[in-house]
Amino acid sequence: MVRYVYEFAEGGREMAGLLGGKGANLAEMTRMGLPVPPGFTVTTEACRAFLATGSVPDGLDREISEHLSALERAAGRRLGEPGDPLLLSVRSGARFSMPGMMETILDVGLNDESVLGLAKVSGNERFAWDSYRRLVQMFGSTVMGVDGALFDEVMARLKERRGAADDLGLDAADLAELVEAYKELIRDRTGEYFPQSPAEQLRRAVLAVFQSWNGERARIYRRREHIPDDLGTAVTVQTMVFGNLGSDSGSGVAFTRDPATGRPGLYGDYLPNAQGEDVVAGIRNTVPLDELGRLDPESFARLRALMRTLETHYRDLCDIEFTIERGTLWMLQTRVGKRTAEAAFAIAGQLVEEGLISEDEALARVGGSGLARLMFPRFDTAAVGEALAHGIPASPGAAVGAVVFDSAEAVRRAAAGERVVLVRQETTPDDLPGMVAAQAVLTSRGGKTSHAAVVARGMGKVCVCGAEEIAVDPHGRRFTVGGTTVEEGTVISVDGSEGAVYPGAAPLVDSAVMRYFETGGRGEEPAGLVAAVARAMRQADGVRRLGVRANADTPEDAARARRFGAEGIGLCRTEHMFLGDRRQLVEAMILAGTDAAREQALDALLPLQRRDFVGILEAMDGLPVTIRLLDPPLHEFLPDRTELAVRLAAAEAQGSPPSAHDAELLDAVNRMHEENPMLGLRGVRLGLVAPGLVAMQVRAIAEAVVERKRAGGDPRAEIMVPLVDTVEELRIVREEVEQVLAEVADRSGVALSCPVGTMIELPRAALTAGRIAEEARFFSFGTNDLTQTTWGFSRDDVEAAFFSAYLDKGIFTVSPFETIDREGVGRLVEIAVAEGRAVRPDLKIGVCGEHGGDPESVHYFHAAGLDYVSCSPFRVPVARLEAGRAAL
Ligand code: PEP
Ligand code: MG
Repeated sequence: MVRYVYEFAEGGREMAGLLGGKGANLAEMTRMGLPVPPGFTVTTEACRAFLATGSVPDGLDREISEHLSALERAAGRRLGEPGDPLLLSVRSGARFSMPGMMETILDVGLNDESVLGLAKVSGNERFAWDSYRRLVQMFGSTVMGVDGALFDEVMARLKERRGAADDLGLDAADLAELVEAYKELIRDRTGEYFPQSPAEQLRRAVLAVFQSWNGERARIYRRREHIPDDLGTAVTVQTMVFGNLGSDSGSGVAFTRDPATGRPGLYGDYLPNAQGEDVVAGIRNTVPLDELGRLDPESFARLRALMRTLETHYRDLCDIEFTIERGTLWMLQTRVGKRTAEAAFAIAGQLVEEGLISEDEALARVGGSGLARLMFPRFDTAAVGEALAHGIPASPGAAVGAVVFDSAEAVRRAAAGERVVLVRQETTPDDLPGMVAAQAVLTSRGGKTSHAAVVARGMGKVCVCGAEEIAVDPHGRRFTVGGTTVEEGTVISVDGSEGAVYPGAAPLVDSAVMRYFETGGRGEEPAGLVAAVARAMRQADGVRRLGVRANADTPEDAARARRFGAEGIGLCRTEHMFLGDRRQLVEAMILAGTDAAREQALDALLPLQRRDFVGILEAMDGLPVTIRLLDPPLHEFLPDRTELAVRLAAAEAQGSPPSAHDAELLDAVNRMHEENPMLGLRGVRLGLVAPGLVAMQVRAIAEAVVERKRAGGDPRAEIMVPLVDTVEELRIVREEVEQVLAEVADRSGVALSCPVGTMIELPRAALTAGRIAEEARFFSFGTNDLTQTTWGFSRDDVEAAFFSAYLDKGIFTVSPFETIDREGVGRLVEIAVAEGRAVRPDLKIGVCGEHGGDPESVHYFHAAGLDYVSCSPFRVPVARLEAGRAAL
């Protein structure tokens, strides 16, 4: 028999899949004996069943009412009881935290009668009516679907009539009037009355939370965070405690360490006389948590002690939501808190030092995408000049963009390729699309735990919040600060690490972490964040099994990659050496009408290629350098067909004689034109039909090796053949390669051994890998082409053409060109690894497609048993770190 409801005392943190993060952690705190208002959790399974069928699963109503009865018995009060009502909060809680993306309904159980009882027992009439109006408003918008802005308008009109500056300026009678106006609004809009039955309120609130799983902002958030769509949310039903009972009450959010920098110490925001959602919504400006120490020293001391208990128990940064009701502290939520990349590294290091976690656990808690973020440039503080404004550094990084004032404009401009900064007084969950589209978020209100701060941090987006000097005028589409007015579209710079805003595009410099890698880890004595990064890198290098190489095709890139820790080059794309002023030589080779002309062109190219190889082999001395023979279609080296035709037509129109060279070129371009060049004459096919090309390239490689050897070096070139479909292609090319190598060895008297291998980047090659391994000393998966040909997606076009629709429809949550498709492309990889190794047990296998530097894919390649990944130099540290994490 499926069970859908668990009392808090029955659960634990290990049950997050079933109870959601919030439910599981409330259960854990209940077990630990912390002060948690009693309640129960409806499982994610109930949500999934409801969403799948559209009807309430059998037994759920009964289970809820049984648990409610138990709650009522323990409280000695009944839900909505007229004289002394038990009130409930109904909150969402998914397995992965989705801050503010789903619905919450507070004060469930109030109605026209129980509001009077609440007024009496609390001795606070205003509080009772304020709670009731909150319920009618939240229920009206969330459950009954009335546009939330309409409630705000009704409230604004009343405030204006009363001359009240904010909601605190409304008294009990005003709030009672507001409740009536809200109820009328609901009836007007829905034709339905606001339900007076507490049981009906509860039931409908639970279902509304289920439904909010599929709300637009929740879906956008999941897509952005790669959270699967089919998990569903749990619903936590908890006895209300009140932070809005007067000045001896309040609500707050606290962190055991600073979630932005990782610095130890209690951090947070507190809002006296308020309910929890007021804190996160940034509706009023909060005070720093320390202030609570002055307002209510006893509760503050208690809070500190509980936070210490939680951190030791969870062995990690925890954040909590708490409420103080007339001097009594209650814990409403805890979780292992989201943090910035900087804080993640810093805290992991600290916890090792404090003896709370092992080096391996510390490594598991940091990640490659965070590391990549720490390698981004920072503003040059010495050169930025006067700041326009200062705020709270809520999420670090440097961002430059044009100012916009609403989410829709941010999305519109970003879609057109513009970089934007979203400026709001405070953000709400409705701003999510704009936050996703923007480079940075700047708000004039709210603390480190405001919606803007929490969401931006979770996304790794730059954020400065609570910049109070700024007056935001969204209707006039400008903000003013001091005497300066900044109109929409003006470029500003936002420094999320320092909490500063600068006019224009501020100059950038390398980050400290980047400087550390740039010096090969040998620069200044690492301290602080850099030391924490160095520690994680050391651990990763110690445990990883995967090698990490770089894709590099210049000596500079090779040298940088080596400083970043690359253990060789996994892909040297020789086509980049054919560009620039050498293009003319390639052109001459293509246009050559006779063997002699072709040879002359190739002879001119040879020394240039040799020089490149010498530089690269020198930079990677003692490490393998996999050089790939020419891959792209030759016409890529010729001028554009249309441009050429236009040039000729223009000359003709002007009556000048057409250039013979242009005419000859156009002829060649027309001859070589292909409808699908990526499936055409490229890769190994080129080597097989373009006479002399392979020989020239191999000679350049071999002579470079000879030169390096004579200079006392240890060159380790490997020759790689691209786009092989069948073993026959490889056999022919390999024989030619061996022959040239033998010739050069003979002539120079220097022994040469350059292993010849192949890329596996076509499905046929993967499926016949056993045959291909007969001729190949190594394989390197070209997962860019392998993804393109397995899916039948043009890698150059699809992202723009239909990927956003595919992501919207949930066909995949991430582009298969970014993260390896384990199910399809991965299957080909596994077949090729198994069959290749069966034929040649010492076959070296790597990957050199873009996936080689993608954190999630690195874990896959580790599991698939590859020997190494190869990626761009800047991603080498990321790959090293993730390869270490994969080995844990
Ligand atoms: C690949 O296809 O994955 C690859 C590395 O080669 P290229 O990107 O040069 O086609
Ligand atoms: Mg390729």
